[in-house]
Amino acid sequence: MTHYVSAFYHFMPLTGLESLKSEIESRARELEIHGLLILGPEGINTTCSSPSQENLERFKEWIIDRFHCPGIRFKDAKSEQPPFRRYKVKVREEICTTGIPGVMPPAGKNRHLTPDEWNRVMEEEPDAVLIDTRNWYEYRIGTFRGALNPNIEKFTDFPTYIENQGIKKDRKMLIFCTGGIRCEKGILDLEQSGYTNVFQLEGGILNYLEQHPNENFDGECFVFDQRVAVDQELKPSERYTLCPHCGQPADVQIECARCDHPMTICPECSHLPCKSVTCSKNCAHQWELHPGKKGNRQIPAFTSNR
Ligand SMILES: [Zn+2]
Ligand SMILES: [Zn+2]
Repeated sequence: MTHYVSAFYHFMPLTGLESLKSEIESRARELEIHGLLILGPEGINTTCSSPSQENLERFKEWIIDRFHCPGIRFKDAKSEQPPFRRYKVKVREEICTTGIPGVMPPAGKNRHLTPDEWNRVMEEEPDAVLIDTRNWYEYRIGTFRGALNPNIEKFTDFPTYIENQGIKKDRKMLIFCTGGIRCEKGILDLEQSGYTNVFQLEGGILNYLEQHPNENFDGECFVFDQRVAVDQELKPSERYTLCPHCGQPADVQIECARCDHPMTICPECSHLPCKSVTCSKNCAHQWELHPGKKGNRQIPAFTSNR
């Protein structure tokens, strides 16, 4: 069955979050929407899905109405498997984790490049620096050609990383992330550090791939649900699952030395003792205690709780 998926965010000051939470949840229940919505004093950020395209459209219209945000950008995709098992609204201080709560992108100032403009700068301005603001394991499975990956632990380390690169304050910088929200804050952070020429990819990689598959983005785009990643056509990944040991994108096939269960693990774990030859946390633990000893087949231990 086809599931229709949509990712979107909107920055706006919100109060009365607990009652808003139950209002959103009951609307989602009525329309049989699944997904995860992060609700905070600075706005909403969500990926949601439904087997009914009509219901998903009605939910989107309700969001526009309820939050007075006609300009909201929806990044749509399809999946044959349900990307979510249920619907959940989580109230958090920040709607995307950057460690800088309460910073809200001002309306009006346009630092967004459309996918067309993005391609033009990539192709015609070789001096522009391209920076991936996502995690290293997201970068590993797919990114823009020539992009730098800061490889940082916390988003708040980002300006320091840029400074250490010796990038001049007025050099053109293009930053991108999955759906655009992280860069909204990233730009503010960089501007506070004195960078004057920073632009972000409007709607992130998801919006880019919708318009320009198989061009300047290589590989797949990691997403935070059961699809693990989407390919160039925004279809759920056929290549990656989640590693049973660490939860990162996995594409290394093994057969468990302890229980003979076939499994896919990530490249990092495929270099670690015990993990590299086992199918689950339990088999890895047992193999460490009793190397070479066979045991019962495991039920796949890692199930995503997203
Ligand atoms: Zn792993
Ligand atoms: Zn096993």
